Amino acid sequence: MTLAPDAVPAQPSDLPGWTHTYSGKVRDLFAPDASPAGRALVAEHGDVVLVVASDRVSAYDHVLSPGIPDKGVVLTQLSLWWFDQLADLVPNHVVSTDVPEAVAGRAMICRRLEMFPVECVARGYLTGSGLAEYQADGQVTGIPLPDGLVDGSRLPEPIFTPATKAALGDHDENVPFAVVADQIGADAAATLRELTLAVYARAEAIARDRGVILADTKLEFGTDPVTGAVTLGDEVLTPDSSRFWAADAWQPGRSQPSFDKQYVRDWLTSDASGWDRASDVPPPALPADVVERTRDRYLDAFERLTGRHLF
Ligand code: ATP
Ligand code: MG
Repeated sequence: MTLAPDAVPAQPSDLPGWTHTYSGKVRDLFAPDASPAGRALVAEHGDVVLVVASDRVSAYDHVLSPGIPDKGVVLTQLSLWWFDQLADLVPNHVVSTDVPEAVAGRAMICRRLEMFPVECVARGYLTGSGLAEYQADGQVTGIPLPDGLVDGSRLPEPIFTPATKAALGDHDENVPFAVVADQIGADAAATLRELTLAVYARAEAIARDRGVILADTKLEFGTDPVTGAVTLGDEVLTPDSSRFWAADAWQPGRSQPSFDKQYVRDWLTSDASGWDRASDVPPPALPADVVERTRDRYLDAFERLTGRHLF
């Protein structure tokens, strides 16, 4: 992973009661410190982690600059909304949203899970890396698909197409189910597949009701060390982890208008950006209008799905 020249991987350095432990491309993780407040939290909830969603935006494995204002709030509030919608299907990691003022709205206190090193992807429609695999040899992660599908085609049924979770800097790689079974055990792999497809089915129906196609989504699960239960972690069903398309504009055979960061990807790979994706050069800074339109899309996704306004 590279950072664009003036990208600031801003971490709220001063979160009373918390110690920074990890930063991914978008999130910063903190552990309770040894203060009385931190100890009280652990005594009440067990091992927890503060998950803070920043405004950083990544595309093609680069963290771009500048960030998208309010993106972290949108991701967190939308995830919380979905966790509620899914609560009867699968346990989730959320403990509380009573977080330090500096990260209010963009953070949640979560049970610390032992994460499975698997990106659990469900696809109901064909695009992106799934389409690329299909075009090469008619299958996605070893699942054969019928002939004649094009970009945006609806699949005969949703499929589980896992990817290995790469270390920071590497690309995630689509892998057959059998590779996941080898890696984490057949039972755990089957559980991840079942839960991922159940979450997709529920979410796809909810989104469809609201005029939004959930083309695909990526989930991350972990084991709760206390209960042993496979638990839904990370973010869920956000514009960063999912492709959302406007149902009324869906037209297989081309790329679909979307409420996710496809807009940023499209700008980066357009002549306008002047960037060569194949080069080692980091992408240029995002122009103000691209930032603004991307922000609008994230807010639009939140509002269409939840029926609520954030601001
Ligand atoms: P990477 O982790 O590979 O950098 P990323 O760039 O998508 O991927 P972020 O989304 O920025 O990462 O960071 C979130 C990190 O927190 C992920 O590594 C995710 O697996 C981890 N995570 C999410 N929920 C939990 C949890 N409840 N317990 C422990 N780790 C979690
Ligand atoms: Mg992530």
